[in-house]
Amino acid sequence: MARRRGGGLMAAREFSFVLRVNDSLEQKNLYELTRVEVQALVQAWKLSLVHAARLWNYLYWECVDSFEAMTELPVRMRIRLAAECTLGIPRVAQEQHSSDGFTHKFLLALDDGAKIETVLMRFTGRVTACVSSQVGCAMGCVFCATGQMGFKRNLTAGEIVAQAVHVQRLLRTSGDRLRNLVLMGMGEPLHNYEAVMKAADILRDGNGIALGARKITLSTVGIVPGIIRMADEARPVHLAVSLHAATEAERAALVPVAKRWPLDELMTACRYYVQKLDRRIFFEWALIEGKNDSAEQAHAVGRLLEGLQAQVNLIPLNPTSGYDGLPGRAESAKQFQEILAGYKLPSTVRQRRGIDIAAGCGQLAVGS
Ligand code: SAH
Ligand code: SF4
Repeated sequence: MARRRGGGLMAAREFSFVLRVNDSLEQKNLYELTRVEVQALVQAWKLSLVHAARLWNYLYWECVDSFEAMTELPVRMRIRLAAECTLGIPRVAQEQHSSDGFTHKFLLALDDGAKIETVLMRFTGRVTACVSSQVGCAMGCVFCATGQMGFKRNLTAGEIVAQAVHVQRLLRTSGDRLRNLVLMGMGEPLHNYEAVMKAADILRDGNGIALGARKITLSTVGIVPGIIRMADEARPVHLAVSLHAATEAERAALVPVAKRWPLDELMTACRYYVQKLDRRIFFEWALIEGKNDSAEQAHAVGRLLEGLQAQVNLIPLNPTSGYDGLPGRAESAKQFQEILAGYKLPSTVRQRRGIDIAAGCGQLAVGS
């Protein structure tokens, strides 16, 4: 807080300048901190760890939206929190419900005015949050609305965490809680590795949102060094790799970064991941009519993935304004699945939900 120096009145302009400088330089967004970091902060203030535990509870269990609501904390701690910290809760700029009632999409405005989308999905008894990792995306996949808008910036760990907390706050009102999270919103999570992994650690913390072992799934376009790093660090999140094509040329036409990390390198990294962690990988396949839905292409996927602990998730293409392909038909999806089964590869066809509010895979985008 700016104070009047020597009792004299500070000019209005100077006052607001000091406030801005203090805000940006000193205020810590609590959602950027792990539980250990919150404990360290509270201990540095010479307060007990019981208060740190209460604070963590307010952040992740009660999901309160102000320091005043943290009534069980000592008043002096609340005053200090309000002066030195922020809650970094994004403003809900818009909310949309799909007509079938299963999908709820939020347009969230961040501190610097950047906007992101977060989706709450309720299907087959599961409640899942689909969160963004970046504002826009640099990878440029031709059929993806986020790719079509280009890259604006990375999200911080706190901005990723805050999306899950937003969903949790909402679910609490109906006595529910968040159990699954997919990093499949706007952006490429492995292009923002540190922030994404820190956010995952915070959200897995057993005293907070407590997402269970492997209740987080991260989808990547295929950033090879990131996949290897996840394997080496034994990150406890599921990995989904967006494949979309089983030959180099076909993949490069849909996913430009395939030129940087070719299919053979990608598959070597995937095999390394599976072997190192003894864990299955999911492969995503946006099914596009006449492009990648033929029997021949299904056999090519079968040959590519045969023997690997893998599951293929077929996603009938969702419409976006910058790409005029059509979704693969139900018959092609069925044929694809039957062929994959011949290679002992399990597969699913993603339910099409939330398309009427552009909340489906690859449909998230915001105007500038
Ligand atoms: N950047 C990551 C995660 C976000 S996209 C990735 O690419 O994996 C989440 C999933 O939606 C990816 O599998 C992506 O290929 C898919 N997707 C993108 N655009 C799509 C569209 N128009 N229709 C169906 N799936 C799409
Ligand atoms: Fe980025 Fe994923 Fe969209 Fe490709 S599909 S542009 S990697 S968000």
